[in-house]
Amino acid sequence: MSNAIVLLSGGLDSATTLAIAKAAGFSVHALSFRYGQRHGIELEAAARVAAALGVVEHAVIDVDLARFGGSALTADIAVPKGRSLDDMGSGIPITYVPARNTVFLSLALAWAETLGARDIFLGVNALDYSGYPDCRPEYIAAFEQMANLATRSGVEGHRRIRIHAPLIRMTKAEIIHQGQALGVDFGLTCSCYDPGPDGQPCGQCDACTLRAKGFAEAGIEDPLVDRFF
Ligand code: ZN
Repeated sequence: MSNAIVLLSGGLDSATTLAIAKAAGFSVHALSFRYGQRHGIELEAAARVAAALGVVEHAVIDVDLARFGGSALTADIAVPKGRSLDDMGSGIPITYVPARNTVFLSLALAWAETLGARDIFLGVNALDYSGYPDCRPEYIAAFEQMANLATRSGVEGHRRIRIHAPLIRMTKAEIIHQGQALGVDFGLTCSCYDPGPDGQPCGQCDACTLRAKGFAEAGIEDPLVDRFF
């Protein structure tokens, strides 16, 4: 079996992406980051998801993006609450973390090259209002091109690096259906940008709103709603 790196945030997108990588036959090495995010709840979720779906190894790397701030997720800036879908559909939200996916993918690339892996998976999604510039298909294609210029494995030519973003053109409802079909327990995941101390979703941030919309459109009950509400 080939090794693959999967970026694992603990949300439902990355959990589904991990399940897709497993179903494709890869031995998964999951990678999460303690990047100065507002809360550790998502890292606990990532550990639960990694254990439940089965990985060879789950690495958690410290990268202090809060040293730079500039995002509602890494600085003392309020997480927007109660925004409409129209609001979310316009512009880049304050929850965008500067260059986060580039930093994360670069570290994933370093680990991949060390392991002799050529496949890196991440759960970015260009639909459903994410608004993040580093979630677009052209960004993923450009990073893949760079990765093959930057590495020994790319230059020597026998192991071309591939960046997989299997969710990129899926709606949240399609992602939920896919995850359910692959046995993902969404009750283990955490999507909220601003959860309570026990992991209770705020129900008001963009991530909570999009998650609720996705489950409603999928016609599936969110197990987190059962647990907390
Ligand atoms: Zn929330």
